[in-house]
Amino acid sequence: MRTQISINKVRGPFVARVEEISGQDLLACNQCGKCSAGCPVVAAMDLLPSQVIRMAQLGMEEVLESKTIWICASCLTCVTRCPKGVDLPRLMEALRQISLRKGVTKLDLNALPPELVREVPQLAIVGGFRKYMR
Ligand code: SF4
Ligand code: SF4
Repeated sequence: MRTQISINKVRGPFVARVEEISGQDLLACNQCGKCSAGCPVVAAMDLLPSQVIRMAQLGMEEVLESKTIWICASCLTCVTRCPKGVDLPRLMEALRQISLRKGVTKLDLNALPPELVREVPQLAIVGGFRKYMR
């Protein structure tokens, strides 16, 4: 199904919310692609980082279904490469927050093997809670 893009979406509440939570001006991005070209985990993503911000610019809430927003490691490589000063990790975090508030849960704690829970550093578990759970 083709997604309908309209001025109502581009200037709609979803874009306003993403900009408010992330603190980023989405229209600053000119789609140069330098973020995607330097991202170390891009091979695991279903959307390029530059595609994520493009969809957010256009008010396409379907971006919330992307694996990319969960795979982003917040490594800041893209931040150092972006000529427009866009902080993509903050955008990814905003999209995760919006997604989590919609009730999406990405991690079932009970499904984790007990031996893994014992061995994984506490910091990693807390980080996982923050990123993957409501
Ligand atoms: S590097 Fe910056 S300006 Fe270029 S596509 Fe990525 S976010 Fe947009
Ligand atoms: S912060 Fe996220 S999107 Fe940016 S380079 Fe790192 S993993 Fe890729």
